[in-house]
Amino acid sequence: MGKIIAVANQKGGVGKTTTCVNLAASLAATKRRVLLIDLDPQGNATMGSGIDKYDVATTAFDLLVDEKPFDKVVVKDTVGKYDLIAGNGDVTAAEIKLMEFFAREVRLRSALAPIKDDYDFIFIDCPPSLNMLTVNAMSAADSVLVPMQCEYYALEGLTALMDTISQLASMVNPGLGIEGVLRTMYDPRNRLANDVSDQLKNHFGDKVYRTVIPRNVRLAEAPSFGAPAMYYDKSSPGAKAYLALAGEIIRRAEQK
Ligand code: ADP
Ligand code: MG
Repeated sequence: MGKIIAVANQKGGVGKTTTCVNLAASLAATKRRVLLIDLDPQGNATMGSGIDKYDVATTAFDLLVDEKPFDKVVVKDTVGKYDLIAGNGDVTAAEIKLMEFFAREVRLRSALAPIKDDYDFIFIDCPPSLNMLTVNAMSAADSVLVPMQCEYYALEGLTALMDTISQLASMVNPGLGIEGVLRTMYDPRNRLANDVSDQLKNHFGDKVYRTVIPRNVRLAEAPSFGAPAMYYDKSSPGAKAYLALAGEIIRRAEQK
């Protein structure tokens, strides 16, 4: 198996990192072998996994720039029981350094090729822009999971994201497609949210996950305890929603 999923949306604050951390933990809890790669220099996925980004010895920089072997870069002791390639400010340096390389778009893909089948799922947490790091994520990925907040400007910018995906598909990664569209921070009492949700379903059809992630304060609090929500408050609606999403993703993968 070994499915690589880039979690991307160039808008910040839509729930990319929250989705990566909680989905990785939920799938790991169902005995799947999971790797999370933090490609955002903010290092939020790293901190949210219980790993101190200021203290970590190796990051995605070592993989992308120095071509250090994967097993020397991977972090194994996350709270969520998945493996992690950490991210911090060094990843910004990696983005700049990448520009010097030939075949700079496919550095991550090459780095992951030898270990891809050691995992059932590999998630890549992308930065909030369509930069060379995101391009590397999408070149390495089998598919892209797009978290969306159902609000007025949500659909704006989606065209740019879809264009990037189709450009990468035609240039370097023919198989690349949409894994799914995830509605995050959802409030069903909000009429606008329901309208945008309907538009999403019209546009993306059954790519829109049935599972909806509710707005839930536990999801926002958990990172400050360095833990996925299921290890902070396992009965919270947020933790349960991500477990349900993990189930949906497993079922979809098994249907194919
Ligand atoms: P991104 O990675 O796309 O920038 P984050 O996952 O960091 O987005 O989420 C942005 C902010 O919203 C964070 O403070 C996070 O804790 C919070 N958040 C994310 N999802 C939820 C949710 N379902 N309910 C409440 N807060 C959330
Ligand atoms: Mg993020």
